[in-house]
Amino acid sequence: MEPVVAADLKIDINIGGLLQALRVDEVSADGESVLALIEAAVEIGKPKGMYKQAFIDELGDQHVIIDGIRFDSRVLRVNLDGVHRVFPYIVTAGRELDEWSMTIEGMLEQYWADKIKEAILRSAFRDFTARLVAAYNLRTTAVMNPGSLEDWPIREQVKLFDLLGDPQKAIGVELTESCLMIPTKSLSGIRFATEITFENCQLCSRENCPGRRAPYDPLLYENRYK
Ligand code: SF4
Repeated sequence: MEPVVAADLKIDINIGGLLQALRVDEVSADGESVLALIEAAVEIGKPKGMYKQAFIDELGDQHVIIDGIRFDSRVLRVNLDGVHRVFPYIVTAGRELDEWSMTIEGMLEQYWADKIKEAILRSAFRDFTARLVAAYNLRTTAVMNPGSLEDWPIREQVKLFDLLGDPQKAIGVELTESCLMIPTKSLSGIRFATEITFENCQLCSRENCPGRRAPYDPLLYENRYK
């Protein structure tokens, strides 16, 4: 199946929440500057995403083959037990915002712009996920991302990009030699329908991570994936 491209993802930022996270009072000179940056970013930003419906050809012990491409991860393989199709995806805040933020001067202003881009990416990801879930009438789903666990290293990004075809041409996202995405405000992964609750964070012991979405379960790997 050809990838589906969404070039019109919504930007819907919680401005009050963002100001609070930046510890900036709306009624202040800093508040005015942040609001002006948000206005410009919303005007310029064109977040995009792409996904594809892909099918599982083979489940090994430590690997899975999806549309002819082999992914090496025991956790991915176990999570895909009983699953027949998956949805590899990439979502990006977009090159337009990256180029805009490069023109901003001042360390504080650059920091604010960075956080605004993150908020736009989160908003775009919500819209993208809602569209994908609605298109295939998916109920509970989970996501795995190459590079978020030792078990599924970042170099597997190359395969994910291959699975999706030409993400650079479709949505302007490319990989560096070290497999990081450009624009950096981009997310990639594989979504799949499942009855089991799974978050990468359950297997990640990193302390004080601001992005943590589930508590670390030190026994989960032993119990479910060994
Ligand atoms: S705890 Fe943080 S670093 Fe670990 S998987 Fe979750 S978001 Fe990623």
